Amino acid sequence: MTKRGMVYIVGAGPGDPDLITVKGLKSVRESDVILHDRLISTGLLTQARGDAIVIDVGKRFGHEERQQPEIHRLMIEFAQQGKSVCRLKGGDPFVFGRGGEEATALMAAGICFEIVPGVSSITAAAVAAGFPLTHREHNHGFLVITGSRSASFDSAEWTAARTLVKAGGTVVVFMGLVRLEAIVANLLEQGCPIDVPAAVVSRATWPTEETRAGTLQNIFQKSAGMSSPALLILGNVVALSPEK
Ligand code: SAH
Repeated sequence: MTKRGMVYIVGAGPGDPDLITVKGLKSVRESDVILHDRLISTGLLTQARGDAIVIDVGKRFGHEERQQPEIHRLMIEFAQQGKSVCRLKGGDPFVFGRGGEEATALMAAGICFEIVPGVSSITAAAVAAGFPLTHREHNHGFLVITGSRSASFDSAEWTAARTLVKAGGTVVVFMGLVRLEAIVANLLEQGCPIDVPAAVVSRATWPTEETRAGTLQNIFQKSAGMSSPALLILGNVVALSPEK
């Protein structure tokens, strides 16, 4: 009988190699093949078996639009060879990481797979900045949205985000750094108050982690020179940060 392959889509966590789950680490240690994102810590990759095939799929295929089909192809081909594959992704695989597309591709190809959740940068960034995403005295929820170009400011989601910002609620903006100026300008144009507390958290849980806090009015200037990956967090809870 031929050996059946298996793919584990594993959340590696936000950066610190100690923040992977026990189940995720088991997959890294035992898999025949590791297909990892670009920013995965070497501290995790050294946990792979000595004879494992380790491929940086983030670097290998160039532009993002070409990368994704190639990643699907590799996962499927290795699994069809009967290999166990660890698809190691930053943060949580189902938070903005195209993990859903990878799961769909595996399902369509009839490959067995399992998703192993990870610590997302959503929570890691708030911890790094020193404030809770929710606090009984301030808010009862938070909204997470991407600041990437594919998400229009006219969408219902951005409208909801602006409503929440106006009310002092917590809004976490992913991929915010490159588009930070446009995001801040849009929020101010659309009536969000200039004194809304705001923080940019860069490289949460990495040795080079950095947080800068201010207000909607000055956060773009304050974040000059910060490095990706980074998140923008807005709302009254940000004012609880010791960085402010
Ligand atoms: N699945 C990931 C997100 C992938 S999208 C997760 O759950 O965290 C990539 C974006 O995530 C980056 O542009 C940045 O906005 C954010 N990000 C990832 N790691 C980060 C970190 N260590 N610190 C701050 N932001 C991070």
